[in-house]
Amino acid sequence: MRIGIPRALYYYRYHPLWHEFFSSLGLEVVVSDETTRAIMDCGVKAAADGICLPVKVYLGHVHNLVEKGVDCLFIPYIISVETKAYICPKFMGLPDIVRNCINDLPPLLSPTIDGRKGVRRIMKAYLKLGCSLAPVDKVFHACRRAFANQSRCEQQLIQPENQLQHNMGGMVVAVLGHEYLLHDDFLSMGIVKRLRRAGCRVVTAEQIDPNIIAVNHQFLKKSMYWTSGKRILGAANHLLAKVDGIVSVMSFACGTDSITTDLVDRYCHRNQKPHLVISLDEHTGQTGVLTRIEAFLDLLQRGKQHENHLSPYGKPLFSH
Ligand code: SF4
Repeated sequence: MRIGIPRALYYYRYHPLWHEFFSSLGLEVVVSDETTRAIMDCGVKAAADGICLPVKVYLGHVHNLVEKGVDCLFIPYIISVETKAYICPKFMGLPDIVRNCINDLPPLLSPTIDGRKGVRRIMKAYLKLGCSLAPVDKVFHACRRAFANQSRCEQQLIQPENQLQHNMGGMVVAVLGHEYLLHDDFLSMGIVKRLRRAGCRVVTAEQIDPNIIAVNHQFLKKSMYWTSGKRILGAANHLLAKVDGIVSVMSFACGTDSITTDLVDRYCHRNQKPHLVISLDEHTGQTGVLTRIEAFLDLLQRGKQHENHLSPYGKPLFSH
């Protein structure tokens, strides 16, 4: 059986788990193509007004998989992936959004993933789904392998703390936002790669130990109950003193982003840390974004030269 998984939204976080789980069950995993303008336009056309860009693009990816003729689609209802936190409501209703926006769909595999009562509940949801697709012993084995693969891949992303110090030479820039925006090169216009090519050391939230993020978000008077918001704020608070500047990549029409980006802006303002906000939607032009990034890097460079008592032209500003 060929199972289709859209290359969008939580695919960017959970692909190690999903690939391992379904292939261990003996299914052929078909992932939609990388995002292109045609995929985005298709999603925009299918979506209702007021939906954020990542969900519109998700619809385009579903359409791409329907065209590939997959036998079924994996589109889970994700309510929560950890205790005491929720995922954005769009994830909770994703299968219904897809059914309402796209006709002639193959059957949807839509387990309810609810981690509010711990990771065992999440495993149970996968076991239940697996039992509808393969013999029980195979399902236990697939589940163990999949969760181990996910945790191995997450661990590999984490950078040692001493790699994040900004005085090690070169500029260090934190790029914060949902992974499905940052790591989709079409949507984000390859911001992370472009900054790396420009010689910056780029830090993203998934490179920081989750325990450090948890501690760093506890200073809020009221706990943030969105998983992605917690991650972004915890990472911003932790990185403020370690990086030369912060770039927030947000989606237009995203409720959680409008709050977290504003809070990050306030932290940066208080700590005199340069902050650039890039808001993306289907009309965002690449030239404008790249010009703003270039100007931001220029600003950081000047700040660094000033710190080192150098003029922008490489000559000392002050002689001792
Ligand atoms: S968190 Fe924001 S960008 Fe992500 S799906 Fe929800 S509304 Fe869209």
